[in-house]
Amino acid sequence: MFVCTACGRKFSLEEHHQRCPICNEPLQLENMRGKIRNGNVWNRYKDFYAIPLNINYSLGEGDTPLIRAEIYGNEVYFKNESVNPTWSFKDRGTFVAINRAIQMGFERIGVVSTGNMAASVAAYGAHAGMDTFVLVSSNISKDKISQIVPYGARILKVEGDYGELYFKSLEIGEKRKIYFMNSDDPFRVEGYKTIAFELSEKVEVDYVFVPTSSGGLFRGIYKGFLELEESGIIDKIPEMVAVQAKGCSPICSSYPSNRIERFKNPITIAHAIENPYPPSGNAVLRILKNNGWKCITVEDDEIIKAQKQLAHNGIFVQPASATTLAAFKKLNLKDSRVALILTGSGLKTKSIEYDGEISSCKIENLENCEVFK
Ligand SMILES: *Cc1c(COP(=O)(O)O)cnc(C)c1O
Ligand SMILES: [Zn+2]
Repeated sequence: MFVCTACGRKFSLEEHHQRCPICNEPLQLENMRGKIRNGNVWNRYKDFYAIPLNINYSLGEGDTPLIRAEIYGNEVYFKNESVNPTWSFKDRGTFVAINRAIQMGFERIGVVSTGNMAASVAAYGAHAGMDTFVLVSSNISKDKISQIVPYGARILKVEGDYGELYFKSLEIGEKRKIYFMNSDDPFRVEGYKTIAFELSEKVEVDYVFVPTSSGGLFRGIYKGFLELEESGIIDKIPEMVAVQAKGCSPICSSYPSNRIERFKNPITIAHAIENPYPPSGNAVLRILKNNGWKCITVEDDEIIKAQKQLAHNGIFVQPASATTLAAFKKLNLKDSRVALILTGSGLKTKSIEYDGEISSCKIENLENCEVFK
């Protein structure tokens, strides 16, 4: 069954739903219980999926590396999602959502996104041989569109309010028989559970830092931990910290109230988490409040510093992902075990300035070059 995250009403999985038909809040699948099995990511966690997952639609997402580092007296684990097939964790969700779309008889899929999710849906759509539609805002930069174009999806620039496009696309999807697998689609969120599953197989952490925009990722990881706890596989759910860029932080700034409010004039370098009106904002607020968990904002200069620090630890991520390290530094933890979800690759963005970090010399002088001294 689907369960509404707000009103609790239930709907049959045999019907096509993406949000609650009554209150328009996000739906999610009922929690599953099970055992962890052997094999690859989708075999090991099979028990936790209410729909069959056909591996033919996989591009090899998931089973990403976990890298340990010692930072300020804490054990820090980097969950490196940048090695997914289209270089972000979105692929985990796209795989589950495309399975659902095909099972429900859709031949066309779509997404509203200008970044990582667009690339992901375009790639999986191409692999599955489906007609794929990507709706972007009319002022999208060339830089951003260049990671979507190669997969051959139909890209449609839409003029008008971009936040509204999320809801409009679902309406048009119903009419035109296109499955829009947007940011917090219930099956996309199901895919993100695997991050919690993979983490818990390797290490028991005290904190998990999650860059949060629409809220789909945060909800997915939380649901994964809940299902593990309900299955008796873990004793305790780690404290989850929602991280946002100060320049676009609708969830953190709505924390005092119980309802998400649109964030005015968003501006940050962390474009992948720049959703001013998150469709799962209310659902994430509820999780944070029920557990007494924090929402932390970080400034752009802190993000840039953290991005460099992560690169100096061997992992080059995009600014949105670096927010996790920046937030971790703010909490001043000691003797803790911490997981940072490094959501996407730095190669997709080009924000680091290298002035003063590169030396040069002539080949004749190589031996006596300054850097070797
Ligand atoms: C999508 C995305 C996020 C946030 O995920 P939501 O589900 O929208 O909250 C974080 N980091 C990166 C790199 C992303 O692409
Ligand atoms: Zn509802």
